[in-house]
Amino acid sequence: MAAPARFRRVLLKVSGEALLGAQPFGIDEKVVDRIAGEVGQAVESGVEVALVVGGGNIFRGMTIAKAGGNRVAGDHMGMLATVMNAIGMHEALERRGISSRIFSAVPMPTICETFSQQRAERALKRGRVVLFAGGTGNPFFTTDSGAALRAAEMGCDALFKGTNVDGVYSADPKKHPDAVRFDRITHAEVLARGLQVMDAAAVALARDNHIPLIVFSIQAPNAFVEVLHGQGRATIIADE
Ligand code: UDP
Repeated sequence: MAAPARFRRVLLKVSGEALLGAQPFGIDEKVVDRIAGEVGQAVESGVEVALVVGGGNIFRGMTIAKAGGNRVAGDHMGMLATVMNAIGMHEALERRGISSRIFSAVPMPTICETFSQQRAERALKRGRVVLFAGGTGNPFFTTDSGAALRAAEMGCDALFKGTNVDGVYSADPKKHPDAVRFDRITHAEVLARGLQVMDAAAVALARDNHIPLIVFSIQAPNAFVEVLHGQGRATIIADE
């Protein structure tokens, strides 16, 4: 039998790139289905789960900005990409019989609900998975910041950041094989060392609201559920 979960309510942030699978662009349905299954297991173990999916597998505003284009228009496109991913994740959850609702920061009522903290709260309490789409709804932000914002608004016990590596390193482990991995580190140290784990605005928001950030590899099957139960491999970013 699984160990009891250590958390009552968590927010899981999955980067858009994690949905790529082996593809260079778009959504690999097998990956989305696997993540949906793991979210379902977490819900079954009694944990309330909010989910933020990035959009980097489809579009990032910086791509347009770097090519000399309009950053704001690019960010609007990026936010729409996060809605597409949320719809894909919602479908995968529903196919598995896991009830979920999408709340978008960008109103688009014919496609999904507009974000309301009160309605999201009620949905989480009823055991629904709540998908937060559209990031913060503003350009010049990222979905990491959107995730930290929603984690604070919803009173989450922790923000789980599912990424492509198994924790926080002193440098990019793919480029620097001698990079040191941290088991535990504070928000302040992450900011002071400029570690590239989440953007600084997201880390600062989590620090100010005492929200632990738990960084793990979403590529490792079952890692989310294991880490949720205090097993598996992750870096914990928390107050001392
Ligand atoms: N974005 C934005 N405001 C937000 C969240 C996202 O403008 O609050 C845009 C931005 O262009 C960003 C893109 O949406 O690059 C996709 O989000 P992100 O890069 O955070 O996705 P991830 O890296 O997690 O896949």
